[in-house]
Amino acid sequence: MKTIGILGGMSWESTLEYYRIINQETKQRLGGYHSAQILLYSFDFAVIEACQHQGQWEEMGRLLSEQAQKLEQAGADFILIATNTMHKVAEVIEEAISVPLLHIADATGEAIIKQGLTRVGLLGTRFTMEEKFYRGRLRDRYNLEVLIPPPAPRRLVHQVIFQELVLGKIQDASRQKFVQIIEELKEEGAQGIILGCTEIPLLVGPKDSPLPLFDTTAIHARQAVDWALKD
Ligand code: GLU
Repeated sequence: MKTIGILGGMSWESTLEYYRIINQETKQRLGGYHSAQILLYSFDFAVIEACQHQGQWEEMGRLLSEQAQKLEQAGADFILIATNTMHKVAEVIEEAISVPLLHIADATGEAIIKQGLTRVGLLGTRFTMEEKFYRGRLRDRYNLEVLIPPPAPRRLVHQVIFQELVLGKIQDASRQKFVQIIEELKEEGAQGIILGCTEIPLLVGPKDSPLPLFDTTAIHARQAVDWALKD
């Protein structure tokens, strides 16, 4: 079994989910007492959040690369960045390490095309929804048309992530607003929805949604187990 290196704590609310899903999957696939071999570096999210909102991406590339190198030195066979947003610096990290990085947009793109969908909605932080590093990758590598909500609901999604979800607050009122936004994306032609922030699955699940959901946390975590167990 390979050792999974995780850059986590962004936020720890979703890193907990990674830890749980990766171990549950490993146990399910191998049986008995098996669990995953994991090395985790968990950031202080206050530092990351401040850098994100001040646009200090170079600094974050440096911080994450430094810890990815330490995970590699400690024996990680590959690395996960346990957040969609921080994939904005994925290329910088890839250059700093010699083990592979399991990109969350690749895991998600593969899951979507496996379902035969071509047009999907994306919910995430404004960085993930608005910038090229995520939607561009899904378009260029997986030929997917990725729809995002208009500016006002986009602001709402970003706000709920930072003022509620990463702080562990799960509120019915926000769930209802997210479901409404999903309805609107459906009317625009979306065939499925990417929960492109690793905390959104804590708020919205398949039973709430009028469209199939692509839970990036679960997809990324399961693909990590695939990688850990393949020869
Ligand atoms: N975990 C979130 C994501 O998947 C948001 C927190 C962050 O900005 O890193 O994008």
